[in-house]
Amino acid sequence: MCPVCRARFRGASECSRCGADLTTVMTLVAAAWRMRQAARQAIVDNDPGRARMLASEAEAICHTPAGERLQALSSWLAA
Ligand SMILES: [Zn+2]
Repeated sequence: MCPVCRARFRGASECSRCGADLTTVMTLVAAAWRMRQAARQAIVDNDPGRARMLASEAEAICHTPAGERLQALSSWLAA
């Protein structure tokens, strides 16, 4: 969501309601997405410690329900 007016984030680089520049937000969302992809790959590669680190980092940047499940799964696998 837009950090200025809390409008729903629609994937555009400018907020549709208040016109705020959301480039940084998009960059962070994309970075978190790549980290989750890398975390999933780490699970496939049987490296749960790395998966947990990547999933936790992704959650710290951008929380999503799926990201939370990925973090929980990788933590369980790493334990
Ligand atoms: Zn806004």
